[in-house]
Amino acid sequence: MKAAAFEYLRASSTSEAIEALADPNAKVLAGGQSLVPLLNMRLARPSLLVDIGGLNDLAYLRRDNGNLVIGAMTRHRAAETSPVVRQDLPLLAEALGHVGHVSIRNRGTIGGSLAHADPAAELPTVAVALDASVQAQGIHGTRDIAAGDFFLGPHQTALEPGELLVSVSFPVSAAGISVQELSFRGRDLALVVAVAAITVEDRVCSQARIAVGGVGPTPIRATAVEQALVGQTLSDSVIAEATAELRCDPPDSIHAPASYRREMASVLTRRAIRTAVHA
Ligand code: FAD
Repeated sequence: MKAAAFEYLRASSTSEAIEALADPNAKVLAGGQSLVPLLNMRLARPSLLVDIGGLNDLAYLRRDNGNLVIGAMTRHRAAETSPVVRQDLPLLAEALGHVGHVSIRNRGTIGGSLAHADPAAELPTVAVALDASVQAQGIHGTRDIAAGDFFLGPHQTALEPGELLVSVSFPVSAAGISVQELSFRGRDLALVVAVAAITVEDRVCSQARIAVGGVGPTPIRATAVEQALVGQTLSDSVIAEATAELRCDPPDSIHAPASYRREMASVLTRRAIRTAVHA
């Protein structure tokens, strides 16, 4: 199929893009890896596409006061291969390596993945695990939205109409990390993805950050599992008991019934914790 007719604006500045987004039927075009298929299937029919692909000032990675701030137009592949990301946020680099094929990661953007808000996507799951903060800019200024409040449902976010996601800020973490995922076929979107960042000091877990995607309308933070790990020496039996605290309500799909996803969420979370502890 072909997309329905639309007007097209190649924005030359962030302010021009934001002005154009005042049109309630406008949509942002970033890397196009999710939006273009939706246009072609006529599942999205904007009257105006605001192309932000030329906004190079939104393509950056910078350290800022204990955080790593990533501009919305940073391509997945640029972040994945950045030495700064590999050093400060290896969880992000590892997770991005699971996003589709390299050709998709060469085009797809950090802002696009977050704004698209697929419940099984890697980047939103990492953002929830690490307490990232999303920065949105609109005609009334900018605001920060905690990742835990940003994802409202499948493909729904806290962005207001007319707002552009301009950057995301991740607290730098020296934790041991792991990303574990199950897909129907290699390089497909995950059925379930579990991420863990675990800090162990003097053989005791001092901090645990765990999130699971693909098991509900948004990625979920496994706080009960985290609480069961902190203060413990992380033997296999402690990890297994903690993982039993995971609560999720996954959907049925043609590729996996809910019961299978629930079981896999538990298996992958346990595996992610174990791998992170020994990382
Ligand atoms: P676009 O497709 O341009 O936009 C996506 C949505 O976000 C649109 O609604 C758009 O209006 C909105 N948007 C984009 N940028 C902004 C912004 N700055 N502010 C506000 N709204 C914005 N993703 C995964 O996470 N994991 C996978 O395993 C995976 N596999 C894939 C496999 C294939 C074959 C394909 C085609 C895609 C796959 N994807 C996967 C999706 C891919 O990662 C997309 O690149 C990503 O989801 C969207 O980023 P984008 O820059 O292409 O955004």
